[in-house]
This record gives sequence, structure tokens and C-alpha cells, in this order.
Amino acid sequence: MISHPTRFVIIGNGAAGTYAAEQLRKDDTACEIVMIDDEKYTLYNRVSLPRYLKGVLLEQRVYVRDMDWHTKNRIDLRLETKVTRVSFEEKTVTTDPGGELRYDRLLIATGGRPNPLRVTGAEGARYLFNFQYFDETKAMVARIPESKVAVVMGGSFIGYELTEAFAFRKLETHWIQRGPWFLRRALDEPGGRVVSLLAQDAGVHLHYDETIERIEQADGRLRVHGSKGFRATADLVGVGLGLTMNIDVFKGTALETKVGIVTNEFLETSVPDVWAAGDVAEFYDLVSQRHHRMGTWDNALNHGRHVAKNMLGAKQPYVEVPTYASGMFNSNISVMGVTTEEEPDAESLFEVDEEGRNYKRLFFLGDRLVGAILIGKMRGRKKVLELISSRTPIAERAKVFELLAMPEVTARPAPSHEG
Ligand SMILES: Cc1cc2nc3c(=O)[nH]c(=O)nc-3n(C[C@H](O)[C@H](O)[C@H](O)COP(=O)(O)OP(=O)(O)OC[C@H]3O[C@@H](n4cnc5c(N)ncnc54)[C@H](O)[C@@H]3O)c2cc1C
Repeated sequence: MISHPTRFVIIGNGAAGTYAAEQLRKDDTACEIVMIDDEKYTLYNRVSLPRYLKGVLLEQRVYVRDMDWHTKNRIDLRLETKVTRVSFEEKTVTTDPGGELRYDRLLIATGGRPNPLRVTGAEGARYLFNFQYFDETKAMVARIPESKVAVVMGGSFIGYELTEAFAFRKLETHWIQRGPWFLRRALDEPGGRVVSLLAQDAGVHLHYDETIERIEQADGRLRVHGSKGFRATADLVGVGLGLTMNIDVFKGTALETKVGIVTNEFLETSVPDVWAAGDVAEFYDLVSQRHHRMGTWDNALNHGRHVAKNMLGAKQPYVEVPTYASGMFNSNISVMGVTTEEEPDAESLFEVDEEGRNYKRLFFLGDRLVGAILIGKMRGRKKVLELISSRTPIAERAKVFELLAMPEVTARPAPSHEG
């Protein structure tokens, strides 16, 4: 029996951590909430960073919560503080600076950190950036006015966001991707061609099946050497090579981890009184009936709100079709449910229009629609979500395209990341 107010400790003040704290306070006015983060900022919207980089959003608009909000809600936020050790037996976390802190219930919402470019000359190179944190985005924003040429490495969403922002800023932008097309595990060749067309429309120079092999300093700029003959002297190099989950502190403990922290459908970990949420949670998803991780703002936000209720005693499964919506140069892309990225055995059908700029790919497991990617026109998105979440058996797969072409009440989705 706990006689004092329950003390909730949250590691990570991203979307998952902060929305969990908000929900805890709403549902339990008496509890103690301590939230710890090693960055120096209150919650800011990582999804807004690309628009800030493009120069279309002011720095102040990137913040979501300020310190006053935490004070008002009696959330003891400890910034620039790292959790260095957790003892599940003693129910304590050790922080630096700080020391030992007892918890009754613990939420791990530690997200991931970007993988650096590991090639000769990259370590410590000036003007070479990842794209995950506010500080590195600010440094890129400061560099852009004195830049003419940018190189981006990475064939996934972060690579895209960097490329789009640099091209928008009228830099000569080279986009290097290891694969033969963008999102090579989720898109097929026709889908990749659509993205290439949209990128070329935006003035981007594309370099597929290529990788950066070496970087040299050259009079305050960076000389980039590619594996297949690419050469450029860049003012700015951006890198999007995926994330490594922040789980190091739990190595050697009883907590079950794989790529992230393994949870069940209630976001409970393998250790009593410990939950995980957001990017770091490798949760059992009832919709796709498998464990997976999601790297989206909506997922982090919804996880945060949901897990708070479960930490307060509810035992409700988390049921949401994962979605990701983003711009795609002057068009849009939406990814829903499970694709061949997560489920290589999924079977798929695609459709592309005559212009070559509108594309739909549907993913099936047996007679169920489990996922879809739409590029260009977003008509049919709502229907796709309905079919995935209802797990409706589908007798004739190609007929789904006809369903998607039918008029909808809302034709275009609001961006999923505006939480
Ligand atoms: C540039 C960019 C663009 C994006 N665009 C989109 C988009 O268009 N749509 C979309 O849906 N999603 C997008 N995302 C992804 C989305 O922002 C993330 O999925 C979401 O923010 C993850 O939130 P989180 O709370 O799980 O983790 P995070 O925001 O990563 O927060 C985790 C926090 O925990 C801290 N931490 C880790 N370990 C420790 C420790 N030991 N001690 C103390 N603190 C620690 C970290 O420093 C971090 O501050 C984008 C991300 C980026 C970077």
C-alpha cells in the first residue's frame, strides 16, 4: 500500500513524456510528477523543425509548452539532467546532476538519437548535421545565409525533410540515397519514380545507389566524396540515417529490450510498475497483431495520454492504426498501417495516374488490408483507415482502388503532426 501521494517519474520530456504528465495531472490532482530530460528545452515540436529550417516558422512557434505551464501543473521538470542508472529492485533512478530519486511508477519515454555518418573525416566536422534536436536546427539556420551548395545523405523521411528545406532555401541541393529509390523498403519502383519526379520538379539533384565515402575540410567548406563518383564542395551536409533507441541505461537489468523497450498492448514493460511510450516503445499492436515501434508525433502523443491512464490503474489496450502524413515537395505523402518495411511478406498492388505524380500502394496480409501509401491526391485516406481498423475481409483486392476513388466527406487530411 502506498500511503504518500503516488510519485510518478517520467524519463524524457518529448511528446510522449509531456502528454503523459499532462494526463496524469488531469486525472490525479494529488500525485507527484517528476519529469527528467537531458536537453535544455521544455517540450518543442520536432515536427515543426523542418518548417523552422525552411524559414517559414519563427523559433518561438516551435515550442509547445513553457516552464510556467509545468509550474502551474505542479510538474517538477528537471532539464539538463541525465538518468544514468535505474534500479528496478529498489525503485530508484539516479540522475546527473541530482542523485537518487525514488519512484512508485516509472514511465520511460526516452525516444532515440540520430545515427551519425561514420566515414573518414566526418567525426567532429563543422557544418555536418543530423536533424533531431533544436540546437542542431538552429546551427543549420545560422549557416544557410552563407551557403550555396547542400548535400543530404539518407533515403527516408529525415533525408527528405532536409532536402526539401535546403531546396526551398534555393541552395543547390544534392540528395544521396543508398537505395535505388526513396523509402526503398516501403515503396516499389513506380512509387520511387513518383518521388523522383516531384523532387526534380523542386530542382533537387538525385543520386541513387550512392553513399558518402569520405569528407574533407576545404577552406571552411566540406568536400564530399561519394562511392560512385559523386563529388561536391558543400557549405552544409545534412544526414538522416535513422535512430538508435535510448535504452543503454537499461542494459543488464530485468527490463526486456529489443530495438526499443518491449511492452504489451497496455504499454506495460516486463518490469512491474514500469511503462514505456513513444518512439522507444516496441509495443504489441492489436491492429497489426505484432510488436513494432512507431516514430511519429501522433503516436507519441497518443501513447503519452493513454499510458497515463493505465499508470493510474486502468488496463486499456492501445488501439490505433499508425499513420504518418508529411509534405512531399509540393505534394503530400501519407503512410498508414503496416507496409513491407515492417512486414516484408505483405503482398501489394499499386496504381499510378497518367501524369505520374499520384500514386497509391495497398498492402495485404491474406484477405485483410493492413496498410497503404498514398502520394499526391489524398482521396481515399479515410476509407483506407476504416478498412484497416475494421479488419474487413477483402475478396477482390483490386476493387479497393475503386472504393478509394469514390467521393469522401473530407478529401484532404490535416497534417497528422500538429497534435
Ligand atoms: C526533423 C523531424 C521531423 C519529423 N517529422 C515528423 C512528421 O512530419 N510527422 C510525424 O508524425 N513525426 C515526425 N517526426 C517524428 C516525431 O517528432 C517523433 O516521433 C516524436 O517527437 C517522438 O517523441 P518521443 O516523446 O517518443 O521522443 P523524443 O521526442 O525523442 O523525446 C525523448 C527525450 O528523452 C531524452 N532522454 C533520452 N534518454 C535520456 C536519459 N537517460 N536521461 C534524460 N533524458 C533522456 C531525450 O534527450 C529526448 O529529449 C519528426 C522528427 C524529426 C526529428
